[in-house]
Order: sequence, then C-alpha cells, then structure tokens
Amino acid sequence: MARGSAVFLWLRHGALLPLALLSLLLMQQGLRTGWADAAGITPKKVHLGRCDHPVFRVVVDVGHTPEAPGALSARGVPEYDFNLRLAKQIEEKLTEGGFTSTILLITEGPAKSGLSERVARANALNADLFVSIHHDSVPQSFKEEWEHDGQKNSYSDRFKGHSIFVSYENRRRAASCAFARLLGRELKASGLQYTPHYSRPFMGKWRRELIDADAGVYRYDGLIVLRTTQMPAVLLEAGSIVNRDEELLLSSSDHRLLIATSVVNAVDRFCALRPSRNSNARLSELQKKLRKR
Ligand SMILES: [Zn+2]
Repeated sequence: MARGSAVFLWLRHGALLPLALLSLLLMQQGLRTGWADAAGITPKKVHLGRCDHPVFRVVVDVGHTPEAPGALSARGVPEYDFNLRLAKQIEEKLTEGGFTSTILLITEGPAKSGLSERVARANALNADLFVSIHHDSVPQSFKEEWEHDGQKNSYSDRFKGHSIFVSYENRRRAASCAFARLLGRELKASGLQYTPHYSRPFMGKWRRELIDADAGVYRYDGLIVLRTTQMPAVLLEAGSIVNRDEELLLSSSDHRLLIATSVVNAVDRFCALRPSRNSNARLSELQKKLRKR
C-alpha cells in the first residue's frame, strides 16, 4: 500500500472514531438537539432519541382471568370485566396513536398459573413496556353490606382514586419508575386524583411506600407481574370498583377514554425519552453518512 493511501485511510478512520463516539454519547444521554450540529449532519435525515411509534411495543395486560376474575364490584360485576374493557380501550388508543405493535395480553385459567403464563408470554414478546390494568378493592374488614337489584353485595365508599405500582426487583427498575411517574402526572393533568390510603398505617400488611407523592406511585416489590417481567413494568389500579360512586364513573366510556388518553400520552413521552430498539440501526446509518464525508 502506498504511503499516501495509508495516511488517507488513517485520516478517514482516525476522524471517524471520535465522531461516532460523540454521536453515541449524545444518543445515550437522550439529547435531541445539538447532536446533528456536532456531527455536521442535516438533522432531518436521522432522528436519534425520537419515538419510533410503530416499533415501540407496549404489552397491555388484562389483569386476572375469566376463571379467576379478581375483585367483585359494589354491584357484583367482576373486576376482570372492567380490566378487559379499559385495556381494550387503551390498546385501541395506542394503535390510533401510531403504536401499532401494541399487544393486548389476555390470559385464561386459574389465578396462579395465569400469573406465570402472562409473565412468560410478555417476556417472549420482546416488549419495550408492560402495563398491567386492574381495578381496586379494599381489605374485607373495610367492607359493608348493601342490597342492589335484590342482591346482597359488599362495598366500601371509604377510598376512591387510582394508584400506580412498581417493583424495585424489576430488572428495569429506573425505567419502570420513570414511566410510572409520567403516567401519574398525565392522570393528574386529566383531573384525576390518586388514592393516598395505601401509605397509611391502618393498611397493615397492604401498606405500601409512596415513592412519588405528586404522581401517586407506590412501591410493591412482590407483585409477580412486575418483578419477573424483563421489560419496564407498571401496574395501574384504575380506581375502586367497591366504591359505589366510583364504580359508576369507571363504567362510563368517557372516563375510560380519559384514562386511555393519559396512558397514550405517558407512553409517548416515555418512548421519546428512551433510545429505541432501532438505535443501533440508526447509529449505523449515522456512521455510513460520516464515512461518506
Ligand atoms: Zn386486580
């Protein structure tokens, strides 16, 4: 090889390495402006750190199963029915919002095997985010009896509001907390209030640490669907179905839409904050452009 060519190659690759490292660093820090200037590239061609909606995969998990349907509402409706309706609405809104890889996860069977099955399926789906949809009840000792439509039912009007849970044992703990906070803020911006009762001493063994008092995010390490999922995971209790007024609210399509829209907005923000699974492809694209210079 002629000496001139060797110098030329060194110059090209010697200059390429720091530029590529700089771009990688900017991407890792999630900077959305300035990277293109630093690399000297037209920003319209490559979008590092921007949400890639069709590729970003959300698993919307319908809490419980038809055979083990969770809590009973104040009017005797199984929690599973509420979870399924809300999760379907969320899936629909996410798809409409461009998140076309969204998967609605419906599980069948007894409670325990249902839990391990949903985790195994979620892990196999290579998802970017897992959101489990539930509706809340209260410990039995807080319940009272009333008659509705000729049937005796249990209720408690003591608490109302949603709550969000994360597990510190999830391998993507920081990302789980980040999404939980975004979701809590979106719900708050929609005028919804979380319930603070999980942090109170009278909750006994159900008491949880409130890790974000603004967004209503609680820590619940032991929840299997949050602990053993391989992706960032959050559980939303959308409200209390044993509260007689809140049950009616949670049954309304307007309210479901409000919650679904808040979830989509939070997913949108979360997705934009994180490097997408296309980051490597985009980095190669950036490197190719740099090589051409
Ligand atoms: Zn539940």
